[in-house]
Amino acid sequence: MHLRTIAFRGAFFFEHSQIRHYLSNPQKLTYKHLYIYQECINFAPPNKLMTYVIQNNQTMSHRFSPLLLFLFAVTTSCTRHTAESDINLNSVDLFFAVADSVAQRQEVAEATWDSLAHSDGYVMAGWQKRKGLIRNALLIAFHPDSTKARNTLLQGQLSMSDPRFHTSLLVRNYVDMKQHWSELQDFRRDYDYASIQKQARQTLQQFLPNFVDSLLTFPNIGFICGDAECRSKRSGITLDINYFYKYPEEGIRVLTHEMFHTYRAHFEDHERFDSIPVLWVVNNLQNEGIADLIDKPLDYDPVIEYAKMGYPEQLAQMYLEAVAATSDKMARLDSLTLSWAHQQITKEEYFQQTSGLFPLGGHPNGRYITNLLVAHGLQDQLLAHFADPVTFLLLYNQVAARENLHVMSEGFILLMNSHSSQNSKY
Ligand SMILES: [Zn+2]
Repeated sequence: MHLRTIAFRGAFFFEHSQIRHYLSNPQKLTYKHLYIYQECINFAPPNKLMTYVIQNNQTMSHRFSPLLLFLFAVTTSCTRHTAESDINLNSVDLFFAVADSVAQRQEVAEATWDSLAHSDGYVMAGWQKRKGLIRNALLIAFHPDSTKARNTLLQGQLSMSDPRFHTSLLVRNYVDMKQHWSELQDFRRDYDYASIQKQARQTLQQFLPNFVDSLLTFPNIGFICGDAECRSKRSGITLDINYFYKYPEEGIRVLTHEMFHTYRAHFEDHERFDSIPVLWVVNNLQNEGIADLIDKPLDYDPVIEYAKMGYPEQLAQMYLEAVAATSDKMARLDSLTLSWAHQQITKEEYFQQTSGLFPLGGHPNGRYITNLLVAHGLQDQLLAHFADPVTFLLLYNQVAARENLHVMSEGFILLMNSHSSQNSKY
């Protein structure tokens, strides 16, 4: 049973097939699954690979290119091993090679597209089944005969519900890469990737009190050519090479944000979260809120930052609306949870009404709360209990009272503190 973390950075491209599995086996469905599912259907474009093929531009020549041989060579040569984890650039190198071929109108064999989609970084990102997406976007961006398709796709900003949205995101990024193609290749070759871990470790050491160095297991890091999202998966963290090239410091901070999650996992009381599943929701707010202190400055502006990543303003507005509604959302979580606990609403009603309450992976509301705690001088207490959602709620309540926000009820806090009682089971 594996569900992907749905930090906002991975929210768009969730595996719907897994969700479908749970929907067809409702007895296995838990609050967490529904919460995540709601996130996806609210904010994700359909997860079918885009069929936006450049149908009018299928005139590329079909002569054989020696690309496959080259690909064989690079797959065995470009992983940088370090003492603690791998920093893997296979996907980037394959992508560069394929893009060069496409730009020269050389045929790219099906097996090569397969190799690309199954290269390490894309596999880490969970994109191995997205060959069509990668191929379409690459062809639209790089093929000399794709100008018309490219212009059509990039004309204006597509809505996130548009089935071509994800393709357009990639194409926009690939076209941007073309603007500094040789500099990007130099960067890929010359950057000191081993320094990433050093910088991330230092950042976390300075950030967290009583930092236990030995618990910081560095994940594998895979660079891809995709969108600007940083994805944290079981197999490692993936990041777009072009984003990292343009914003290396932000890239390191984003990676540190993800590493914080893996570090924090050592301290999470999963047994307790399972017995009181709404704690999972509060835990997520705390987890993302604290992680965002690492990579999002206090003056973080989602409108600017999302635009930088190629996302539509629609998403930034969603973020801002969620932030503005934090108090209302906490009030709703409070009353719905108590209604369920008092058996005034059914489990299904409770799931339905609370799932999706904190959109975008909980980041906007989590970050709003942690920023508020910092502004009220509670950062030390927040970080001293960085994996304790109940303390997080108590700190929130202190500040909420001063800020005229909804204060979570005593009943809710009691429920959070109960442990494995019959009533707390969902
Ligand atoms: Zn996160």
